[in-house]
Amino acid sequence: MLYKPQIDFLTAHAVDPDMRRYAVQEEGARHFIDIDHYGKFPFDSLPRKWEDAVAKFSEDSLKKYGIVPWWVQIILQRLTNAFKEKDQAKILKLSAELGHYIADAHVPLHANSNHNGQRTNQQGIHGFWESRVPELLADTEWDFFIGKAAYIKNPGKFIWQRVLESAAAADSVLIIEKELSQQFPADQKYSFEYRNNILIRQYSSAFTKAYDAKLNGMIERRMRMAIFSVASFWYTAWVNAGQPDLRKLNRKDFTEDELIEFERLNKAWSNHQDEHN
Ligand SMILES: [Zn+2]
Repeated sequence: MLYKPQIDFLTAHAVDPDMRRYAVQEEGARHFIDIDHYGKFPFDSLPRKWEDAVAKFSEDSLKKYGIVPWWVQIILQRLTNAFKEKDQAKILKLSAELGHYIADAHVPLHANSNHNGQRTNQQGIHGFWESRVPELLADTEWDFFIGKAAYIKNPGKFIWQRVLESAAAADSVLIIEKELSQQFPADQKYSFEYRNNILIRQYSSAFTKAYDAKLNGMIERRMRMAIFSVASFWYTAWVNAGQPDLRKLNRKDFTEDELIEFERLNKAWSNHQDEHN
């Protein structure tokens, strides 16, 4: 009722947190956790509660290795408050951002320090898993109908479980790409394609499909889980705010300052893109 008509806004602003990485220094840490830094699965040496983790490792160190599971909980709290204030503009902005951080938490390479295969000569695997494979297969082969959102009693526990699943999957993501690369000659692993008049190298369709098959549906499952989690966090925020009547929200328009901020993010982002082209 609230979200359906706002789908364009949510889609456009779900990428704001990534744009902000190029404008705000402390943004980066909110998108990942190099959980393998804390030893072996299930990483019991790392306290799940922020205060306990800070006491043990210091805030600076936690931020260095990433804080996504805690940051999701902070944005959930802010979204809950926005529902209490019945502030529609704030609700939409925070919903889009919460969706982004939750989705990141579902990506195995956001929960592993070898996040772009840089240590194992697999550079590019990050975008391969989260962009190239879904772009090729999601529309035609995958099903994202997930049914109803659920109320999450313990959001902290919930998001930590998702992060641990991601961490556990990271090894397969890397190892299977490695194995497959040994079977594919380089000229069949990659293909060339023009994008905006620039010739770019990308993983070939054959390699992409073979990878997805070997992962046995993992990427689709993680994406389905991410969608379910996002919907359930939104629903949980609304319930915890006392289920405000969504037909009676205030402030449908963004303030001048908020619009300027959106614009600033866009600029920082496109400057960054230009530098890299
Ligand atoms: Zn991100």
